[in-house]
Amino acid sequence: MRLKNKVALITGGARGIGRAIGIVFAKEGADIVVADVNQETAQQTASEIEALGVKALALEMDVTNFEKVEEGINKILDKMGKVDILVNNAGITKDNLLLRMSPADWDAVINVNLKGTFNCIKAVSRPMIKQRSGKIISIASIIGLMGNPGQANYAASKAGIIALTKTVAKELASRNINANAVAPGFIQTAMTDKLPEEIKKKMLEAIPLAKLGTPEDVANVCLFLASEESSYITGQTITIDGGMVMA
Ligand code: NDP
Repeated sequence: MRLKNKVALITGGARGIGRAIGIVFAKEGADIVVADVNQETAQQTASEIEALGVKALALEMDVTNFEKVEEGINKILDKMGKVDILVNNAGITKDNLLLRMSPADWDAVINVNLKGTFNCIKAVSRPMIKQRSGKIISIASIIGLMGNPGQANYAASKAGIIALTKTVAKELASRNINANAVAPGFIQTAMTDKLPEEIKKKMLEAIPLAKLGTPEDVANVCLFLASEESSYITGQTITIDGGMVMA
C-alpha cells in the first residue's frame, strides 16, 4: 500500500479524471476527500470509494471562492485530521476563437482552472507547512505547453498552472512539500466526448500511440507523484499524451 494513512483532497473529484484518481489512491490505502461543485455526484463517488475499504468524505466546494475553500479545508482538518495530498483537478473549458471569445468566458476558465488552483494551494499550504510534509499535484494540459486554436483561455490557465507549480515548488521545498503538475493529452472523458468527430479524428492522427488516454493513465502518474517514490521530484510537469508533445 503506497498511500496508507494518507489523506488526499481531490478537487473536481466527482467524475472523470478526478474520480479515477480517487479510486486509484483509495486502492493504495488513502482516505479520500471528494470536493466538487456537484454535491450529489460527489456523494455517489465518495460512497463508491468507501466501498474500497477507506474513509471518504464528499465536500461541496467551489474552488473559485477562497473563503469556501478555506472553510472546506477546516472541515477536512476537523473530520480527517490532516491533508497530506492535494490534487488540483477541477477544470472547465469554454472554447471559442479569440475574436469571438467573450471576456466572461475568459474569466470563467481562468477563475476555475488557475485561480481555483491558487486558492486550494494557498489554503492547504498552512497545514502542510505545520506538518512539514505534503504533496501538491496539479492537472495542467498539453494545451498549456503548445497552445490550441479556440482555447486561448484554457491554454493560458494551464500554462499558468505550470508556472505556479514551479514557484510553489521553490517556495515550499524547504518544508518538505513537493509540487508537481501533469499535462494530459487527449483523455477519454465527458470533456473530450463533446468534441466534434472531425477534430477527434485529427487528434488521433497526431498521437504516436494512436489512441486516447484513459483517466487511469493520468491517475497512475498522480499516484507516483503522491507517493514517496517521487520524493526527489519537484517543480516538474509530466506529460501523459501518447507521445503527442515531445520536447
Ligand atoms: P470533467 O468535466 O469530466 O470533470 C471535472 C470535474 O470538475 C466535474 O466534476 C466538475 O463538476 C468539477 N468542477 C467544475 N468546476 C468546478 C469548481 N468551480 N469547483 C469544483 N469543482 C468543479 O473533466 P475531466 O475529468 O476531463 O478533466 C479533469 C481535469 O483534467 C481538468 O482540469 C481538465 O482541464 C484536465 N484535462 C483533461 C483532459 C481530457 O482530455 N479530458 C486533457 C488535459 C487536461 P460538474 O460536473 O458539476 O461540472
